[in-house]
Amino acid sequence: MKALKKTSSAGGTSGHRHVPERTCVACHEVKPKRELVRLVCGAGGVVEVDTLGRKPGRGAYLCHSPECWHKGVNKGKLEHALRSRLSAESRAGLMKFAGEIRDSEAASSRMGGVR
Ligand SMILES: [Zn+2]
Repeated sequence: MKALKKTSSAGGTSGHRHVPERTCVACHEVKPKRELVRLVCGAGGVVEVDTLGRKPGRGAYLCHSPECWHKGVNKGKLEHALRSRLSAESRAGLMKFAGEIRDSEAASSRMGGVR
């Protein structure tokens, strides 16, 4: 794992091919696309996690931070980004996914308490 320190001026890091970057709609950090999770507002206004990145529809991205998922899902960031209302069903599905991310990310350092 590489720990990226955020420096405001992007220096001359050589050897870096162009990596597609996306912005997390909650914290607005720009990250390589594969470090973000794509969410799509599909037909019928259902917002789903698009793990393969192939679903049609308006997309938005969230990073793996549980906080961002909370902000995105519960604080309206996603609704704003997707210009769509989140149904209770969508919300539940997304929070479930968020919980799974947290579990896999926190496999080594398990911290309970947040639900
Ligand atoms: Zn984020």
